[in-house]
Amino acid sequence: MHELSVAQSIVETAVEEAQAHGASRVVGINLQLGRMSGVQREPLEFGFEISSKGTAAEGATLKITEIPLTIRCRSCGAESGVEAWEFICRVCESGDVEILTGRELAIVSLDVE
Ligand SMILES: [Zn+2]
Repeated sequence: MHELSVAQSIVETAVEEAQAHGASRVVGINLQLGRMSGVQREPLEFGFEISSKGTAAEGATLKITEIPLTIRCRSCGAESGVEAWEFICRVCESGDVEILTGRELAIVSLDVE
């Protein structure tokens, strides 16, 4: 399960960061998760529960902010919010677009004590 290894690295990062700041426990992790990150929310939460057992992040709340997919058209410059895999400009219907948001998979902040 891909999400399990992602969850493990989240736990490792969170625990290292907490220790670096002299905290003994991670109580909350604020995470940005893009729709196009390739990681599903439910298995990630499940993986986190497993991975955090016995670590300083055990019992921490995983607060996930889902980032929608937005694209910018290289032809007309318009920015559109789109559904996954629908890489077409809503304004001029060009397929020449770049992804602006939706690939995020990052820890934004930690709550520690
Ligand atoms: Zn366009």
